[in-house]
Amino acid sequence: MTSTKTRFAPSPTGLMHIGNACTALFSALYGDSFLLRIEDTDTERSRREFVEELLEDLRWLGLHWKEGPEDGEPVEAWFQSRRGAIYQRYYQELEERGLAYPCFCSPRELEISRKIQLGSGQPPRYSGKCAHLSAEEVSRKRREGLAPTLRFRVPKGEIVEFEDLVRGPQKFESDDIGDFIIRRADGGAAFFFCNAIDDALMGVTHVIRGEDHLANTPRQMLVLRALKLPLPRYAHCALILGDDGAPLSKRNGSRSIKQLREEGYFPIALLNMLARLGHTYESDALMDFAALKAAFDLSRLGKSPARFDPAHLDHWQHLAVRAADNETLRHWLRAETRAIVPEEKLAGFLDIVRSNCVFPEQADQWARILFTDEPRAGSGALEAARQAGEPFFLAALDAANAAGESFDLFMTELKSKTGAKGKGLFMPLRAALTGRHDGPELGTLYRILDKHRLHRRLAEFTYESE
Ligand code: GLU
Repeated sequence: MTSTKTRFAPSPTGLMHIGNACTALFSALYGDSFLLRIEDTDTERSRREFVEELLEDLRWLGLHWKEGPEDGEPVEAWFQSRRGAIYQRYYQELEERGLAYPCFCSPRELEISRKIQLGSGQPPRYSGKCAHLSAEEVSRKRREGLAPTLRFRVPKGEIVEFEDLVRGPQKFESDDIGDFIIRRADGGAAFFFCNAIDDALMGVTHVIRGEDHLANTPRQMLVLRALKLPLPRYAHCALILGDDGAPLSKRNGSRSIKQLREEGYFPIALLNMLARLGHTYESDALMDFAALKAAFDLSRLGKSPARFDPAHLDHWQHLAVRAADNETLRHWLRAETRAIVPEEKLAGFLDIVRSNCVFPEQADQWARILFTDEPRAGSGALEAARQAGEPFFLAALDAANAAGESFDLFMTELKSKTGAKGKGLFMPLRAALTGRHDGPELGTLYRILDKHRLHRRLAEFTYESE
């Protein structure tokens, strides 16, 4: 089998979000090699900071590109803004062969023509006004100082067909496609053009991208054919919507990858969620990149829009926390959390984190509850503990003194002293020790709490109770 090369070709005009992260992931999962190209031809909206953020997000997700930029420094090979001379050669070739022509129509003229077409129920496409200007007319207009765009001359009466690897057979008539701009009036390369040229020149075999680009594909194929450049195969993935069916936005829980990273999501949680957006896996288990790659199959990509549900992401995060090793979890904790966990209690604390927390914020709350004397949360738990009464806590103190390190002994003692059992035994203890109704098992709490602190917390309920 010949080897496959895929690419991710973001425009650095904003932060990476769930939609483009999904495209990047599918490309990385599918390709034997995966390249990164920065499509920064929109000089006004492209920003170096966004390139830096993109690289950081991709690295954090573990989507490693074999070819592409190392950092945000624009280098000729991977930044379209630096590849003008390459595109120029092809513009020239197309012009010389009469396959492209300068167009002097102003944006206003084009807009009027568009409105007229729409008004008469026709799909808007370029009227062809400048398609047959004579060489003299072109020179005259240039002398007048008019800067033309360059339009690709779409051949008449052709059918453009291809097999989309997600959507199946596609067929377009060239007569439905107006001559389109391949170079802007400011000399910058237009997306249709440089995106296709670069795929060909960079040896990309498979273009995996969003469905919103499907209608661009016949145009790009026409350009590549005209220049006798190799055509990639195309796979247009379904769009991703929010779980309310609306486009992704803050309102339906969509956030940038940077924000998710800062909120403490694990990259593996995100990878597992993204890999299942529009793609099905047989296994519901948390998989690492290699396992996701091994089971990835383009034929498992769905045609209908995928829905992003923030609860799914949290589900994967839950599994990721449970699967994380101590070293990973320790790094994941906030620095201020690490600072309050005594070294000798760290392993025990990480076990608590693993089974009780999903976010670093929650780990921080537990660290404060267990290792500081900051007031325990004002939920009704302390109040509920008080209901158990002073004798209960006096007995608990005695039991703790007698039992020392042994939780089992502590419980046996307390049961025999108070006659309490089940919830009546556990709830007041848990509430008194943590200020909460939920959390780690009582035995775990008993063992991890410093003995003085444990005694103090039990003693708190021996004076004020009824
Ligand atoms: N720069 C384009 C985008 O971000 C790339 C589209 C493509 O993948 O071909 O939408």
